[in-house]
Amino acid sequence: MTKLTGQCLCGEISFDADGDVPVMANCHCTACRQSTGSAFATLMFMKQTDVNVTGTPKTYQHSSDTGNTMTKSFCGTCGTPMFTQNSAREGMLGLRAGLINEHQEFTPKVNVYTSSKMQATVLDDALPAFEKMPG
Ligand SMILES: [Zn+2]
Ligand SMILES: [Zn+2]
Repeated sequence: MTKLTGQCLCGEISFDADGDVPVMANCHCTACRQSTGSAFATLMFMKQTDVNVTGTPKTYQHSSDTGNTMTKSFCGTCGTPMFTQNSAREGMLGLRAGLINEHQEFTPKVNVYTSSKMQATVLDDALPAFEKMPG
């Protein structure tokens, strides 16, 4: 696959990534909507070791609805949401897909947490949809 690159709004934090992206998803959960300020989060989960981050993001931790520790990383200067990590998916890093320069590489495969999606969000019927998190 193509190498992925991206950066925050001010450019203080950037990344380049090269490797498999086993999970590409749109997440409609409330925490994703709040932490991104968007109708839903666009996520590309990769091995943390496949992602090279330049700069030091700030982090914020919270508990998911299933009790996992979620770590959100964001730029402390411009506030751009950068990454998310889930203690249940050790070693995986979720990139915010809206940040990537290689737009064509984001092809979401699933919608999750559709039970908390915004009414105005139209789902792609071609994709599987789950009320919560599958598996
Ligand atoms: Zn920034
Ligand atoms: Zn979510």
